[in-house]
Amino acid sequence: MQQPGKRPFKVLLIEDDEDYAGLVRSILGRSGGSSFEIETAGDLSAGLDRLAQGGIDVVLLDMTLPDSEGITTIRRTLQQAPHVPVVMLTGLDDETLAIRALQEGAQDYLIKGQHEVALLARAALYAIERQRNRDALLASEARFRRLIEKNVDPIIIIDDQLVVRFVNPAVTRLFGRPKTQMLNTVFGFPVPRQGQTSEIEIVDTKGKVVVAEMRAVRIDWQGEQASLASLRDITEHKRMLAELEQTRQQELQMKDVFLSNVSHELRTPLSVIHQFTTIMLDGLAGDLNSEQQDHLEIVFRNVEQLRKMIDDLLQVARTEIEEVIDVSQPEAGKLSVISECVSIGALVKEILSMLRTIAATKKIALFADIPEDLPPALADPQRIRQVLNNLINNGIKFTPDEGTVSIVVQPVRNPSGFLDIAVSDTGCGILPEDREKIFEYLYQSENTIDDSRKGLGIGLYICREIVTRHGGRIWVDSEAEKGSTFHFTLPVFSLQTYLAPILSPANLRARTVGLITVEVLLGDARNLTKADERTLSEIWGILKYCILPEMDQVLPRMGRFEYGEIFFVVACSNIEGVKALVRRIRGQLARADNLQDGDLSAKVIYDMIDIDSDPQQTGPIELNAAVAARLKEWIDDKLNNRRAFHEQEKNPHRG
Ligand code: ADP
Repeated sequence: MQQPGKRPFKVLLIEDDEDYAGLVRSILGRSGGSSFEIETAGDLSAGLDRLAQGGIDVVLLDMTLPDSEGITTIRRTLQQAPHVPVVMLTGLDDETLAIRALQEGAQDYLIKGQHEVALLARAALYAIERQRNRDALLASEARFRRLIEKNVDPIIIIDDQLVVRFVNPAVTRLFGRPKTQMLNTVFGFPVPRQGQTSEIEIVDTKGKVVVAEMRAVRIDWQGEQASLASLRDITEHKRMLAELEQTRQQELQMKDVFLSNVSHELRTPLSVIHQFTTIMLDGLAGDLNSEQQDHLEIVFRNVEQLRKMIDDLLQVARTEIEEVIDVSQPEAGKLSVISECVSIGALVKEILSMLRTIAATKKIALFADIPEDLPPALADPQRIRQVLNNLINNGIKFTPDEGTVSIVVQPVRNPSGFLDIAVSDTGCGILPEDREKIFEYLYQSENTIDDSRKGLGIGLYICREIVTRHGGRIWVDSEAEKGSTFHFTLPVFSLQTYLAPILSPANLRARTVGLITVEVLLGDARNLTKADERTLSEIWGILKYCILPEMDQVLPRMGRFEYGEIFFVVACSNIEGVKALVRRIRGQLARADNLQDGDLSAKVIYDMIDIDSDPQQTGPIELNAAVAARLKEWIDDKLNNRRAFHEQEKNPHRG
């Protein structure tokens, strides 16, 4: 070790034995690299006097002196000069005492007569070095302490037993407690991990509640591991957030009430339009030519659509109010979804043909790209019409003249089992910060260029509700000024997903499943007219009427396609049950008014599947692989027949 400015180390030897003092002098005098200047004191009081004058680098202290003995010797020395390192010199039999002296603060000890020449110098030098390190550490700790003492943020040091070891004045203000009540007590809150934050609620002595955010880092505190937690009073911030939320809720509620009122008001005139259109369509106001009939049917479909939209508006408005007011009824008033096997391609074409006129006014081109072999979806056709209508309408609305809106439907590859329906436009696009928010209730983007395009901010919210209720997802990809693509997914129709819950033991007690098809053949191979639709719903009503709930159990209605085919699965306890049911349906259909009108005819076909060949078995019934395969074959067969029928209707000359 190099002495600053090459000054020799000043050693104070407190030793009454003159011979020993001489020995020490000679050893240190001969020591190699470092030079020592030795002063001697013959007893403790002389030693302490010398120490009081200062300038001593290390003390070599004999434990047994004429005026002091044992542990008091070291205590008094350290009291006099707490920052001067002390090396004890002891006799062999004093070693236990020497160890105690170390505990009191001595730097080292040497047993007289045992040390070698090099050892003495080294012990002295090490003692000086260690003392300097300790002083430096204490100084830095003191600086650190001053720093956090003055910090305006509350800072607490908590050891790993959760005992408070240090608090700065800001903490005592935050907790409303004096330092003495906090130090060395257990900290009553969990300490967050390094780098993490937590929120704590502090109740001060007067009962005032303060919310603070706590952040912790690991430190070394007086030689032990501890956490340094800094706190931030966020009471005001929280209060403001709560106020903002309350204002937002009030605004929503006001909008809700407004929406409810408006929708109610709209309903009345709309019912009148609905009624008179029906009267005209039914020919009660005189005959219509076929063009008038077609136009009126378009009016009728749109009135229906509008009625549905108003109903939804009322329903979601009610939902939100109920959710705000009464959280115990979150399910009340939700948009209902009744899924069946549907062709998304057909729905897309239907909606596009409806929106062609609107698109044409802006010279917007509408495209659809739908693979021939697209599997059907498991969805509520009415609801999906609504989603498509909303998205395509928005596409047209937010796209400038002569743009394009296109719809691409394809199966999702990963995870499979879903269809992806993408509606793209070449419109204004959506800013990144709005891409999530536009799906929120009553949200409208501030950035929509043209205020006149604004609606209610409810369309996409309803879309999201509907899609999530189908188990799908909806999102938007967009590039500013280039356009947006809204995607949504719907589950692919599969027997497993569709039938499995229905064929569960709780739902299915019968062991024989009857598969019944009711085919309604229409004379004219157009899309369904309103009158056809009414016929089909009448037939559906008949089917429901025919099925006695206590005897048979209707499983799903498998679909109602363009050509009026309805097929459904029914579970009966035996073949006789299925036959009786078919007889009943046939009998009722024969009496159906609409079916008597010329062009229509209905066929009832049935088939049977045994779920379990052992009728004695009472255990649970499962949709096993064999039954599922059989059901699938049957349904595929029906679907193929329908396709063939459809093709033939389209191109009658080929058949
Ligand atoms: P609104 O009735 O206001 O149109 P929506 O829920 O349908 O309500 O849409 C919410 C907002 O999302 C719109 O106000 C608009 O800012 C934005 N938006 C929706 N579709 C598009 C689109 N295709 N292109 C650009 N912005 C869109």
